[in-house]
Amino acid sequence: MDFALSDEHRMVQQMVKGFAQKEVYPIIKEQDRKQEMAPLILPRMAELGILGICIPVRYGGQGMDYLSLGLVCEELEAVDSTLRVVMSVHMGLNSLALLQWGSEEQKEEFLIPQAKGERIGCFGLTEPGAGSDVAAIVSTAKRNDDGYIINGEKMWISLATKADHALVVARTNPEAADPHEGLSAFMVELDRPGVTRGDIHGKLGVRAGSTGWLAFQDVAVPRENRLGEEGEGFKIAMSCLDNGRYTVAAGATGLIRASLEASVKYAQERQAFGREIGKFQLVQQKIAHMVKSYEAARLLYLRAGWMKNQGLRNTRETSLAKWFATDASFEAASEAIQIHGAYGYSDEYDVERYLRNAKGGIIYEGTSEIHQLMQAGYALDYRGDAQLRCELPAFDRDSWQKEH
Ligand SMILES: Cc1cc2nc3c(=O)[nH]c(=O)nc-3n(C[C@H](O)[C@H](O)[C@H](O)COP(=O)(O)OP(=O)(O)OC[C@H]3O[C@@H](n4cnc5c(N)ncnc54)[C@H](O)[C@@H]3O)c2cc1C
Repeated sequence: MDFALSDEHRMVQQMVKGFAQKEVYPIIKEQDRKQEMAPLILPRMAELGILGICIPVRYGGQGMDYLSLGLVCEELEAVDSTLRVVMSVHMGLNSLALLQWGSEEQKEEFLIPQAKGERIGCFGLTEPGAGSDVAAIVSTAKRNDDGYIINGEKMWISLATKADHALVVARTNPEAADPHEGLSAFMVELDRPGVTRGDIHGKLGVRAGSTGWLAFQDVAVPRENRLGEEGEGFKIAMSCLDNGRYTVAAGATGLIRASLEASVKYAQERQAFGREIGKFQLVQQKIAHMVKSYEAARLLYLRAGWMKNQGLRNTRETSLAKWFATDASFEAASEAIQIHGAYGYSDEYDVERYLRNAKGGIIYEGTSEIHQLMQAGYALDYRGDAQLRCELPAFDRDSWQKEH
């Protein structure tokens, strides 16, 4: 594995850092207080090409590799988790599924406008009664002569009220002996008759972002909107999560870095007992832990990104990166507050927002408990998931960067 970033990688990093630090950082505290996503976010991310960063140019994207996606997420979440959440759902959970599973017609219809940022995608898996247990999904998609009729409700959906399309997983075969095999995936335009949606307010974190619900009442979708074959919904959802989790891991790495940088700055400024608090060994210990977490989290997500570039299956490695980085980001944010003392307890400083945002990463895209089960399952050889086709198309620089 080559650890050196290319000039192109560094250019992307600088561009995204500039956007996040100069355009978003000055307004983020206010947006977090108002619990609203700033109107400039999606149009600016589209304009900068971030929303199609690792989609081939022939499908409307920038033709960069999967490592670039990770680097983008790290820079975005170093400012605010809500920016990285956009990448997780629009790109990780939706556009990359279209790249892997979509027909040429579906890529034309959905992927190209999403990669150009003209349309926004979201992901509807979770339901009021089905989160970690995907097999408990009760939304239905009944086949008729023209296609399918979808009924049901999706809960905790990021960008629910901002998106144009949702990748929705619903039950097509309630009789399937294995409930996982009765699920199918659909691309659903959210302006179809029968779709209603709304925002969820009062969240602990990701307040400057958009989280909501989707309801489907007799929503007709044509057969051409089904992604993959009937019964492949679970496989598709798991492949989506392999990509979404990668973006969460990379983003949480940025959150650790932000906690570290804020802690170093404060520890060098704040005086106690006649010296800067950075001179105290117990403060140094916290900073040393953050350094360790940052470096380890970064290596784990870079390895997962490298495997994606090679077209290798990376479910285990991505899960490990996500579990480690999100747990470590929560710990780093908590220690950053401790270093800031009472000031860290107020929203005058960023670190309390980091802690509130970090908690979300431990819940969505597989709770830390689910990732522990996965890691133990791999180690003990209890997981029978070799048949899931989760690997993305390998990155091919020349063909991905060819003009449309
Ligand atoms: C901010 C935010 C954004 C989100 N965005 C999206 C989105 O865009 N799309 C989407 O589909 N979903 C989204 N989600 C939902 C998220 O993926 C689910 O919340 C998550 O999968 C957990 O499901 P649950 O909340 O139903 O918890 P549950 O599955 O009910 O779990 C509750 C608790 O039980 C534990 N538990 C469950 N099963 C086991 C087990 N077998 N062993 C040990 N412990 C277990 C869990 O770890 C957890 O601690 C989002 C959630 C949040 C908070």
